[in-house]
Parts: sequence; structure tokens; C-alpha cells
Amino acid sequence: RGVLVLNVRIAPVADEYILMLADDRTEITRAQAIRTDFVANVSHELKTPVGAVRLLAEAIEGSSEDPEAVRHFTRRLHKESARLTALVHDIIELSRLQGTDIVQKGTIIDLNQLVHEAADRNKLAAENKNISIRVGGAATRPVHGDPELLMTALRNLIDNAIRYSPENTRIGVGIKSKKGTALVSVKDQGPGIPNDEQDRIFERFYRVDAARSRQTGGTGLGLSIVKHVMAQHGGEISLWSTPGQGSTFTVSLPELDEATEKDLRDSESEP
Ligand code: ADP
Repeated sequence: RGVLVLNVRIAPVADEYILMLADDRTEITRAQAIRTDFVANVSHELKTPVGAVRLLAEAIEGSSEDPEAVRHFTRRLHKESARLTALVHDIIELSRLQGTDIVQKGTIIDLNQLVHEAADRNKLAAENKNISIRVGGAATRPVHGDPELLMTALRNLIDNAIRYSPENTRIGVGIKSKKGTALVSVKDQGPGIPNDEQDRIFERFYRVDAARSRQTGGTGLGLSIVKHVMAQHGGEISLWSTPGQGSTFTVSLPELDEATEKDLRDSESEP
């Protein structure tokens, strides 16, 4: 409402006033609808693992005479609680990212180093499926932002490539600079993504294959998180994929020009 009053004052022309009023209302209604939708989805997604934890606890109680059954239910209980933990973690991360100005105090980041580290940290998961990760290329300039958020985004992309690819395949991570933009692409030899679902996979909780996502520990929020992290950094994410021929996700981030980098270094070194 505050915004509407301000618009009335700065735009006294009747036509413009009506236009802005309609526009703001649409924005508010849309934001409310998104929030209501998110809460409904979150409740739905939490119900399954929470219900499973309760049933498994009861099953363990009821099979105290049978050590093998206790072991079986306990293993499943661990798995469900891990799923719940991942889900809660991603929900919190995404809610935080939907706020404004998350990257309040960014730092100068060597993207090349960050990408190599992200690949290293996902190495074990890749080795478990005998998948090789090769990182090649380099960006010529640094970027500016929150290194932890960018690490999360890069790791989500590599993690997806590992989870959706069959064993004994390769993942290629490429870094390059193009006209003041740093580009990082993650290419896999997985199943690919059907054309009509390529936009939708960036929506919260949208999955092409829900069973596969859950079975591999997915939360359905990974790509939404990547998209928001990129938006917070003035960057973008795009996808190239043909079903049966793998997927390539590419993120782009604005590079720091020399003058801005110098200004930032000067202000960083100030007490
Ligand atoms: P999830 O936790 O389900 O992986 P994401 O938001 O990370 O959630 O991805 C959304 C959906 O996009 C996944 O469920 C999967 O269907 C599809 N997807 C994401 N990455 C890939 C990939 N590299 N190859 C094939 N499908 C993918």
C-alpha cells in the first residue's frame, strides 16, 4: 500500500496512475500466490518423510524381539531422516535466497579456483559411480559475490550431473570468459531432459522423474536454488539438452573489470 501512495504522488496523470495501480496490484497478488504455493508444496513434501519416520519408529518398537527387523527399520529410519534434513536445509536456503540483497558484503572471487574446489568436493560421490569429472579452461577475470552461495550453486549442478548419470560415464566442467562474462558449464552423459520440461525443472519441487529424484536423495529444490543464487549475482542459468544425449547446464556471471576490482580491493583494505 505504501508503494501505491508513493506512485499516486509522483504520477498525478490519471492514466498513468491507473496503469501503476494495476501493475502494483498484479505484483502483490503474484507474490502472494507464489508464497501460498510454496507453503502448500513444502507441507506436501514434508508430510511423506515425517510420516515415514513415525511409522518406522513404531515398527522398531514393535519388533524388539527380532534384531534383523530392527536393523532393517533402523537403516530406513536413517535414510528418511537424512532426506528430511536435506529437505529442511534446502527449504531454509531457498527462503533465504528469495529475500533481497543477500549478497550484501560480497568479495572478489577467483572463479577458476572455486570451480576446481566444487569438483573436488563432489569427487567421492562421482568415484562411487565410477564417473570421471574433468575440469578445463579458465576465466580471465574474477567475479564478485558470496563464495559460499556460488559454491552451493556449482556443487548442486555437479551433484545433479552425478546423480542422474549412469555409472562409468564422464562429466566435463568448462570455464571460459566471453565479452565480460564468465561462463561455467557442466556437461553430463545422463538421460537428458525432454524439451517441454526444460523450463519447468527450475521451478521449486518440479521433477521429471520423481521416483529417481527421491531415490538419489534429491529434494526437488537444487535448480531453484541455483537459479536464485545466479539472480542474486546478476547472472543466469541456461540449459542445453537432448533426451538420450545428456545435458549441459551453463551459468553466466558478470566479470569484474579492472577499475572496479581496484576500487573493491582499496575498500577491502580500508580498516
Ligand atoms: P532434484 O533434487 O530432484 O534433483 P533439482 O531442482 O536439482 O531437484 O532438479 C529438478 C529436476 O530436473 C530433477 O528432478 C531431474 O528430473 C531434472 N534434472 C536436473 N539435473 C539433471 C541432469 N543433469 N540430468 C537429467 N535430469 C536432470
